[in-house]
Amino acid sequence: MTVQTEPAVGHAFSRAEIGAFVDEVVVPRAAEFDRLGRIDASIVAEFAARGLWGAVLSVADGGTGAGMTALATVHEEVGRGCSSMRSLLTVHSMALYALDRWGTEAAKSRWKAHMVAGAALGAFCLTEPEAGSDFAALQASARREGDEWVLDGHKLWVTGGQLADVLLVFARTAVGPAAFLVDAAAPGVRRIPVEGITGTRGSQVAEIVFENCRVGSDAIIGPEGMGLAIATGVLDIGRFSVAAGCVGILQACLQASVSYANKRHQGGALLREHQLVQQIIATIATNTRAARLLVWQAAQLKDAGSPDTIMATCIAKQFAATSAVAAANDAVQLHGARGCSDEFPVGRYLRDAKVMEIIEGSTQLQHVLIATDACQNRARVVDVE
Ligand SMILES: Cc1cc2nc3c(=O)[nH]c(=O)nc-3n(C[C@H](O)[C@H](O)[C@H](O)COP(=O)(O)OP(=O)(O)OC[C@H]3O[C@@H](n4cnc5c(N)ncnc54)[C@H](O)[C@@H]3O)c2cc1C
Repeated sequence: MTVQTEPAVGHAFSRAEIGAFVDEVVVPRAAEFDRLGRIDASIVAEFAARGLWGAVLSVADGGTGAGMTALATVHEEVGRGCSSMRSLLTVHSMALYALDRWGTEAAKSRWKAHMVAGAALGAFCLTEPEAGSDFAALQASARREGDEWVLDGHKLWVTGGQLADVLLVFARTAVGPAAFLVDAAAPGVRRIPVEGITGTRGSQVAEIVFENCRVGSDAIIGPEGMGLAIATGVLDIGRFSVAAGCVGILQACLQASVSYANKRHQGGALLREHQLVQQIIATIATNTRAARLLVWQAAQLKDAGSPDTIMATCIAKQFAATSAVAAANDAVQLHGARGCSDEFPVGRYLRDAKVMEIIEGSTQLQHVLIATDACQNRARVVDVE
């Protein structure tokens, strides 16, 4: 998908600014993206005009961002409006982060400015039919032939795979797994749209098949054999974004629930006056704040360059995703029959939230990682200095 808009640069991305943009531009279109199963080019341009596609990189690194706390606000607010757009922003940010951190100078000069500007959208191709949570079992292959790499393999569930311009692909070389940046228009790349997904329906998920796909020698990013380490680093950014997006879902559930409870009368009283309804609203409000604080802690640790951010991000993602599912379930309940209709967005929130428990490391995988870390580190306290 190509857009012609110059990016804004150096945004501080205040909540007031990004929140107003989301209310004006994203919220009104989210139901349509969900119903049609696709976004439109104009919203890509609107994001580009505000510098959102480049926000994962600081201005000093050639991006448009102002650090991880600001990034969390961006991804939370976009997630409040539309999880499909937030998912597209997530995978694009992952690909751009990988390019900036591990890409060759040739790859950077080819892609970076376009990706920062949103003129080239990125996607993340890790999952395969037999390699899901256990991505180390990936089978896609890359072999060297002269000045080229030749890729073969089958990737599943690629968010944005229908529209992306550049694909971050993980494949096994003779030395071990490696990461490649592949032009999505290269010969040998076949995209198959995935229909009927439970949530994030507008995120244009695709299966992508690589058949004798030839790319230049500069397409590899990072050392051969380092692919799993790169995937882990990129997944940390993805998890962070998804955690922030889940805070947005929680906030949207809170707003929808409060709005409905303030209007609907049953049993001679507004819903908000019934104590069991108050319990629902209190739980969503508490978990929204707690999840946001966990994301902010992970952000501050990232900005401080602390390795503790990895576990803080797992914890934030696990808590935010499970809380978002519970909040969306409760929000549907609070709306009664109307919660099961398209009249209100809470049904979409529930479908979108469920996806968040599966992507970027499922809830069970986060539990394994968190418990392993807690046991190894004897449940030590992590403070942000
Ligand atoms: C809408 C959507 C978008 C996606 N976008 C992308 C994308 O852009 N790029 C990409 O590469 N992938 C993407 N994925 C794929 C996603 O990352 C995988 O679905 C996820 O990693 C889980 O893999 P799996 O579906 O094969 O499930 P499996 O790994 O087969 O897991 C099945 C179940 O077993 C559990 N389980 C697995 N291993 C363990 C374990 N060791 N201990 C305890 N429980 C375990 C899981 O939690 C899960 O409940 C997307 C998926 C969806 C639904």
